[in-house]
Parts: sequence; C-alpha cells; structure tokens
Amino acid sequence: MSAKQDITLHIYKNSSGLKHDTGAGHPECIARQDAVLSIFKQEPYSALKVIEAEEAETKWVAYAHDRNYIMDLQEAIPDSGHVNLDSDTVVSPHSYIAAITGAGAACQAVQDIHDGNCDRAFCATRPPGHHAEPERAMGFCLFNNIFIAARYAQQQCGYKKIAIIDFDVHHGNGTDAMARRAENILYISSHQAPFYPGTGNPAHDVAGKTLNIELAAGDGSETFRKVYEDTVVPALHSFAPDFVMISAGFDAHKDDPLAQINLTEDDFTWVTNQLCEIANKYCGGKVLSVLEGGYNLDALKSSCAAHLNALQK
Ligand SMILES: [Zn+2]
Repeated sequence: MSAKQDITLHIYKNSSGLKHDTGAGHPECIARQDAVLSIFKQEPYSALKVIEAEEAETKWVAYAHDRNYIMDLQEAIPDSGHVNLDSDTVVSPHSYIAAITGAGAACQAVQDIHDGNCDRAFCATRPPGHHAEPERAMGFCLFNNIFIAARYAQQQCGYKKIAIIDFDVHHGNGTDAMARRAENILYISSHQAPFYPGTGNPAHDVAGKTLNIELAAGDGSETFRKVYEDTVVPALHSFAPDFVMISAGFDAHKDDPLAQINLTEDDFTWVTNQLCEIANKYCGGKVLSVLEGGYNLDALKSSCAAHLNALQK
C-alpha cells in the first residue's frame, strides 16, 4: 500500500523508569528518560498522546525469558541500595517494576496498533532491553522489551513475520539469541565491531533469523546508509514483514561518549524513513519503536526528536 496521509503516533512511558536508580555516575541513568520525556512537553510533540504503561503479564515476559530468570530477577531486587547483576547491570528497589512496565509498554503498544488505535508507537521507557538474554540480565538490560513485543504480536495478535531492526551502536546479543530459537522473527543489527558485547559476527548468521552488520570505529553517515541501502532494505523486502519493530538506540551518534560511530540526527531521520517505507509497503505502516541506548543527553534528545518526526510520516 502507499503511505498514509495521516499517521497516528502514540508514545508509551513507564514513570517507574524514573525511579530505576543505577547509582552515581552510571551512564544508563534516570536523566536519560527525563531528557526523552522532556520532548513531549514542547511543541509540536506536546500534541502526541502519551500513555502510562501497565505491567506486562508474566506469561508475556515468558515468551522471551526463562521463568526461573523472571523469579530470580524479582528476588534479586534489594529493599534499599544497589545490587550488581553483572559488572555494569545494577538494580535498586524500583528496578523490577520499571522492567515489567517497560515490557508492558511495548506489548500495550503492539495491542493498540493491532486494534487500530494508532499506526505507530514509540516507547520512551527504561531500562533498555536488547542485551537481556533468555536467562540473564546484561548490559544495563533486564527484560528484552522488543523481543517480548515481537512474541506478543505473534501469540496475542496473530502476526506471523516480525522484523526487528536494531540500529543501537551495540549488538543486541539478547535479541539475536532469542531470534535464533524463534520462528519467523528476523533480527537485523548494525553495530560497531569489535566492541561490547563481542557478539554479532556476520559469519555466524542464520539465514532468515539473523542479519548482522559490522561497522568500524570512525564510520559515519556514508557507510551506515550504504549498508542499509545495500543489505538491510533488500533483506526486508525479501522477508516482507507483517510488523516492523525498531530497537532504537541513539548511541551511534557522533557525540555519544560510549562509542565511536559518527551518525547525526539526519541519519536517524533517514533510517527511520527507510523502515517506515518498508512498513507502508508490507504491513499497513505498522511500526513499533522501543528506546534502547543513547548516553549523551543532548544528542539523545535531538536524535529521538528526529526519529519521532520521521515516524509520523
Ligand atoms: Zn547501545
């Protein structure tokens, strides 16, 4: 189908994310979500409907995660202070409620798109999700929000083929691992390599399940757009998804302190446009986007705004 004239974009937030304290000096901090949510206090974004997310049902989370892990995570939450689940993944008293409502936001967004309440959705939530593996938290991530949403779309709404495109600068090892053992979920990632978490080598791709693309430190707009034009977009045409989902990390921005890729806001606009065109052609424009990384607050805010502009076209 051709592009719609009027795209309705809904925003989902979990206010509990603003209480998910990761400790002083942690890059995945409350101020990140504050920065993103501040966008919706300004025109023209203040016209967007912002919906407070509810908790995901445990069975939805269990589409992606081992039930023992879900229980272990609940038990790991301290009554006060902080607990390290690994060297950089920290939980505190409000972390479980933040994680379960973050997952709930993504599922609620899928349901609202399915029900025709909106065409597209963006989840301005934390913690992020793409490093969370079936049986463990990792890399600031507790629940794999995007994969839970993909399985929710299949199980609860009857969609068959889900494409997850992850332009966060890090490889989404958790989503990749989950896609390998799922049916009809294609995970596509562009990421800096060699880099954390050390996974995402294209040599290990499984056709129809994973498509990993490595970017080198110092790469910028030209290389990024070329790999999307030459590889990602053709793969999406071949796959013909019933739902397009985006792991929207903005840490490939040139000003991000954690990585060395040099994208600008225009690149996030461009890539979002590409993905929306795929959605318009194959699945009535349906796009779910979920916030992943992005650690320079100004760059996060401006990149997110660029992404939101493109999602409305
Ligand atoms: Zn990242």
